Amino acid sequence: MDAELVAAADNDKLYRFTFEGFPVRGQWVRLSRTIADAQAVRAYPAAIADLLNEMFAAVAMFADNLKFEGAVALQSRGNGGALIRSLAECRNQQHLRGIAHLEEDIALHPNAQDLSVWLGDGQLALSLIPPPDTQQTPYQGLVALTEPTLAANLEHYLEVSEQLPSRLFLTSARDSVTGLLLQRLPSADQATEISAADDDEAWSTITTLADTVTVEELQTLPAEVMLRRLFNEYTCRLHPPRSLSYRCTCSRQKSDRTLRILDARELESLLEEQGQIHVDCEFCGTRYAYDAIDVGALLSGADTAPPGATPH
Ligand SMILES: [Zn+2]
Repeated sequence: MDAELVAAADNDKLYRFTFEGFPVRGQWVRLSRTIADAQAVRAYPAAIADLLNEMFAAVAMFADNLKFEGAVALQSRGNGGALIRSLAECRNQQHLRGIAHLEEDIALHPNAQDLSVWLGDGQLALSLIPPPDTQQTPYQGLVALTEPTLAANLEHYLEVSEQLPSRLFLTSARDSVTGLLLQRLPSADQATEISAADDDEAWSTITTLADTVTVEELQTLPAEVMLRRLFNEYTCRLHPPRSLSYRCTCSRQKSDRTLRILDARELESLLEEQGQIHVDCEFCGTRYAYDAIDVGALLSGADTAPPGATPH
């Protein structure tokens, strides 16, 4: 197989890897079809597409470390920047969706890499959302914006919130994004001072080696080749990959619930103005349409059905 085909085989895959004999774990992810699907719903200026791509790669890797199947969401709210808000989420460790809302005029900073240009004095938050049928409570932490890049800010966040030394790389190319995350886990309980010092030294060497990776290597090499090239003095074990894709959670029922927030008069006047009421999903572009019969059903508390599903 030629090199491009080998590399493409890792598209939309996430690998977890471990270092034999050392308490270091890692994730590698590459998204291609997933980000193309995101941009098919909504096209963004290149710099914003890159940022959203990096957010997707980050939440995919963070979700892989969760002990539960829920969602990880990374969201920004701007204050004085060109990016009003953005969201990338990964559910069940495999389904991604996201969106960015921009000020109309972003011509001033078409290529800026610095997060502060986009967010101004805004906020970035990471949420962990357990599945609805569990007792666990959701968690949200604010990511301090002290560094220019998304990767550096998230790396710092992981070190503070998880208390694990971390190294995070995110790089978006035109049609793919690649992420690499390394974390130093605590040494084993029975570790002696000497073995803990060995672990520290291994972590230091592994991160030094990781820092030699070039953007081109990150963006183009298949996971196994890149890890072997970087860490050939260690035994690095790749676990079976996980497939990722762009998938939305919207539904007719959720759309019904949204409309039920409005009262009868509001619904009827919308219907009168437009003939039909449309609820458009901003994540996937699906349009849910409601005619007079559907609105009648909504008002009587019944579920509505998509056209053709059941006879009116
Ligand atoms: Zn949707």
